[in-house]
Amino acid sequence: MMTHPEKHRPIVQIDIQERIAVVTVDHPPLNVLSASVRQGIVAALDQISRDAALDAVVLTCAGKTFFSGADISEFGGEIAQPDLPAVIGAIAGFSKPIVAAMHGTALGGGFEVALACTARVADVGAGMGLPEVRLGLVPGCGGTTRLTRLAGPQAALDMVTSGRRITAQEALEMGVVDAICQDDLLAEAKILAARASEGNFQRPDSGLKPGRDALISRFRSDTAQKFRGQAAPAEAIDCVARALSEPLEVALEGERAAFDRLLAGPQAAALGHVFQAERTARKVVDLAPGTASRSITQVGVIGAGTMGRGIAMACAGAGLPVTMIDTSQDKLQGALTAMRASFERRAARGRLPTDVAQACVGRIAGASEMAALGQCDLIIEAVFEDLTVKEQVFRQIDAVARPGAIMATNTSFLDIDRIADATTRPDDVLGLHFFSPAHVMRLLEIVRGAQTAPDVLQTAMDLSRRMGKVGVCVGNCHGFVGNRMLARRQAAAGELILEGATPWQVDRALFEFGFPMGPFAMADLAGLDLGWNAARSSGETIEEMLCEAGRFGQKAGAGYYDYPQGQAVPSPLTETMLQGLSQRHGISRRAIDDGEILTRCLDPMIKEGRAILDEGIAARSSDIDTIWINGYGWPAWRGGPMYWADHR
Ligand code: NAD
Repeated sequence: MMTHPEKHRPIVQIDIQERIAVVTVDHPPLNVLSASVRQGIVAALDQISRDAALDAVVLTCAGKTFFSGADISEFGGEIAQPDLPAVIGAIAGFSKPIVAAMHGTALGGGFEVALACTARVADVGAGMGLPEVRLGLVPGCGGTTRLTRLAGPQAALDMVTSGRRITAQEALEMGVVDAICQDDLLAEAKILAARASEGNFQRPDSGLKPGRDALISRFRSDTAQKFRGQAAPAEAIDCVARALSEPLEVALEGERAAFDRLLAGPQAAALGHVFQAERTARKVVDLAPGTASRSITQVGVIGAGTMGRGIAMACAGAGLPVTMIDTSQDKLQGALTAMRASFERRAARGRLPTDVAQACVGRIAGASEMAALGQCDLIIEAVFEDLTVKEQVFRQIDAVARPGAIMATNTSFLDIDRIADATTRPDDVLGLHFFSPAHVMRLLEIVRGAQTAPDVLQTAMDLSRRMGKVGVCVGNCHGFVGNRMLARRQAAAGELILEGATPWQVDRALFEFGFPMGPFAMADLAGLDLGWNAARSSGETIEEMLCEAGRFGQKAGAGYYDYPQGQAVPSPLTETMLQGLSQRHGISRRAIDDGEILTRCLDPMIKEGRAILDEGIAARSSDIDTIWINGYGWPAWRGGPMYWADHR
């Protein structure tokens, strides 16, 4: 029996209960399938196989969870024997039935272990999934093949290409588990084991289900755009196809080969970097370990526009009561109605339980006077992007906020120190730069001013996690990290369309690189009239020309693109305007290929990223990658701009 070297507690223990062997693995904190666990399981099975008095096995885990996954620290290094495929092979081929009893989260290799068992029972609160695709991999130890044979191709394609986690109830409906259990998981598992020993269960991987090629091809073509450029989802779809049409051994071998291919390829390395980068970002470089966090129980949001609404919803979603203020009562009422409708829509679509949505709505209240923010622990300003307005608002906040309250600005570009100086307590001020829509986007740039107190920063980092966001601490400069780099890309894209590229060509090149959309489609979506002023417009830039023609973007049915039936199509009028503008600037237009577009859009960004590092605005190049992946749609499988530049 394997024991914890330091604690003399068995990692794998066998309890004989009537004619059933209950094998319990106890490898805190998360029962990862590390070498000692694997050795222990194989040794236990060996012992049980030789005992004729035993009919069946229940495999379960002590502590918080069933096996939470493979030991990813072993990836890329020497793997001790038996490896996970061998253990799963031993389980699948075992001479007696094995029932998996799952609680907590059975993910990746952990779920593959359960899938190789004869039957599965799950605690009602259990979750399970095959998240390997998020690391650029496929499950590889039979997970894809067995899941497909158990649940059918539709469910398997969804799970293995998204990496999505399913609930115990979903698993039951899919046929992935045989029972779910409210209280005594072990008792339920033993009942199943006894039934299995009477021959009442078929091995899950026994059934071949040919003739489903049309479904696979449809899925492949439906998701071709979404998965463009990505190796792992394509391999996962092939694995599902093989699981349906090939004998078990062939399908399993194919799955393993796909895993090995992906593991050796560049995308898994890039996604491994992304995973680590996000974890690393949680540590603010020069913040002393153990820096205390201030308690946040009540939030104020100033500005009921696009950002204020999203921020209020993100806070309410994290369980925080919010008081919202706006100078315009109409805007405020409109925002309250829109936020309520948004939560109700999410509930109607099944994305949020109805009672949770109602609770979120109940947490947001409007108020007309700044004094209503007097008891808030955190006040977030999201008014117009104008330094004078923001300074004025911060003076007002300073006058009403209680001592120790944190005062944050959601500014996109402005100087945090100037804003902080409008108050008598600049150490309580910082930037909390949310991204639109703020209740959806994961990134939070946490901007540290010259005087921001350490516990204010720590509180912001903790808050980001509480909101389910990725907080990245950055320094103060015009546009911080993300927008400062973005400005370089936008400038390059603007030059390219004057020199001869079309907006659609630039957008397509960046889309094919992996961005969800290009800069001109994005500008149309945001509205070209943001910051445009009819009285001051001089018709000198393409955006001014478009606005003067009433082409404010998608909302106006015309911008860079035309939008017949709401679909973006290239606009001949925009091209004519561009030709005229090039001529006025004395630029002779020429053909520009996609390679040049990419180089000219991306290289200045990287150069700016390096300057940002040199100036200490970002502490690490991986922080820049985390920002661009979570806030600006940089394709994660390319590892972030700085990683990409270092590895291309
Ligand atoms: P918005 O124009 O949609 O909303 C601004 C709101 O502030 C309006 O409702 C206005 O009535 C209100 N307001 C103006 N002055 C006020 C005052 N003195 N007191 C109270 N309310 C006042 O603007 P937005 O797009 O939500 O942007 C708000 C801030 O967030 C800006 O600083 C912007 O740069 C930043 N930001 C915007 C985005 C984005 O994508 N829109 C993303 C990140 C950050």
